[in-house]
Amino acid sequence: MASPKTPRAAARKSAVAQTPAAKAAGTEKSAAGASAEAAAPKGTTRKSAAGKPTAAAMPTTKKKPDAKKKPDAKNRPDAEGKPDAKSKPDAGKEYGRKKSRAVPAAGSESRLAMVRRARRINRELADVYPYAHPELDFRNPFQLLVATVLSAQTTDLRVNQTTPALFARYPAPEDMAAAVPEEVEELIRPTGFFRAKAKSLIGLSKALRDDFGGEVPGRLEDLVTLPGVGRKTAFVVLGNAFGVPGITVDTHFMRLARRWKWTEQEDPVKIEAEVAGIFPKSEWTMLSHRVIFHGRRICHARKPACGACPIAHLCPSYGEGETDPERARKLLKYEMGGFPGQRLNPPPDYPGKPAAPLGAG
Ligand code: SF4
Repeated sequence: MASPKTPRAAARKSAVAQTPAAKAAGTEKSAAGASAEAAAPKGTTRKSAAGKPTAAAMPTTKKKPDAKKKPDAKNRPDAEGKPDAKSKPDAGKEYGRKKSRAVPAAGSESRLAMVRRARRINRELADVYPYAHPELDFRNPFQLLVATVLSAQTTDLRVNQTTPALFARYPAPEDMAAAVPEEVEELIRPTGFFRAKAKSLIGLSKALRDDFGGEVPGRLEDLVTLPGVGRKTAFVVLGNAFGVPGITVDTHFMRLARRWKWTEQEDPVKIEAEVAGIFPKSEWTMLSHRVIFHGRRICHARKPACGACPIAHLCPSYGEGETDPERARKLLKYEMGGFPGQRLNPPPDYPGKPAAPLGAG
């Protein structure tokens, strides 16, 4: 099999090669991919005009580790990307860690360098997750709005398993506006906080019926007036039902934006504003999906799978999680780990398996 021609292609190839879905599709796992990812000697990385390492800058032989150097607690490569002496020789072999690291020492990165690194992360995530999408099942803006309200404090999977019966019973805002609260509560009970959520669903349905002609409005300022609808929910609906660019700052997005040093903020609205200044508007919706996909599959809250992370070479927080490739691979979720996804009806290009209905399996 031919070696990947670019670092991005190598990163995507190595990540996809790990998925059973990819294996099932005949994708070969390439041992050769690791050779192009050997650590670059300090100061030898040449950049193209676009800021990417050139092919010539990627050495094909591994640099001999410095035997005198003491390892740090987390077996972390230094700022130039060289593994320390006691690193496991195969750690990160198939993944991005041994590519030229684009992460300078803490505190020394200029704003321009950070923006370039952030945009490169977005490009490489696009290669890893070309099928990134909203993980809620929906067929129209009303269904997406309802599903997004239900997704608070629970998984998209649980929402997707709950909404088929709910949408069958109340297909339109007028139907849900006239619902008996206890009946809605019973249908949405699996999603948790069902009394408050039922109140929001009936309230927003009445507002849609009375104030918006039974249609979900396509403007942020209108959406946030609906009961139970904040900016995050509004951006999900705008981005995915109306094609209006928006950044969805959920718990995954907040965590990853901070790990990648895109922001130091903790308030979602401030994070949204700072990230919006890094990326062109046209990227906002897909960027949100890619970041959330990565947070759910690889860069977990408690134990990120750093040793299996295709963008480790761009991450200042490499080493926060498991760096051993074998152990890291076992942490991968959904299609990356060979498991079903969250949607019962995923898009056709989704390489994983659909989720099972509630109570099945
Ligand atoms: S913290 Fe680890 S898993 Fe998360 S992006 Fe960085 S290297 Fe990848």
